[in-house]
Amino acid sequence: MNYWIHVKHALDQAMLHRERCLEIPSMTGRADFWEGGWFEYPNRETALEELENTGLSRLVHCPICKP
Ligand SMILES: [Zn+2]
Repeated sequence: MNYWIHVKHALDQAMLHRERCLEIPSMTGRADFWEGGWFEYPNRETALEELENTGLSRLVHCPICKP
């Protein structure tokens, strides 16, 4: 299962999602570091590592898909 990280620099927050979460837009488009964006990872371990690597203060797990 793939995992997604939604980076929101404006909120100093990164949120982890499972694939097929309702929150994930169908068109994720190209990611812009400052505007934030959606980043896909092949497994939970990698996603959690990258979550730590965002350097953001608030690392949260989606309350809907509970990754
Ligand atoms: Zn989610």
